[in-house]
Amino acid sequence: MVVTCSHVDCREPAAYKVAARWSDGRASELKTYGFSCSDHLESVFRESEQRRLDYPPSPGEVLEEIAIYRYEPGKRDRQLQRLWGLEENYRT
Ligand SMILES: [Zn+2]
Repeated sequence: MVVTCSHVDCREPAAYKVAARWSDGRASELKTYGFSCSDHLESVFRESEQRRLDYPPSPGEVLEEIAIYRYEPGKRDRQLQRLWGLEENYRT
């Protein structure tokens, strides 16, 4: 299965994963907000930031800032490379 861009009507394969690290103090995982091709990263990132604000974590949970990872099929979350430089372009 090919993961495609989350942008409306876009069918391009995903190049980036937009996600935030979530933890409840015991377990932690990457909470996925969307996937993006190289053309729609800005809109997918901004929609993800908005959704993160709309659904704040419960008490006792920690939800970190929205982050951008290079998406590589078959790789586990913790193997993905975080693209800090790209995030700086879009963070509001
Ligand atoms: Zn796209």
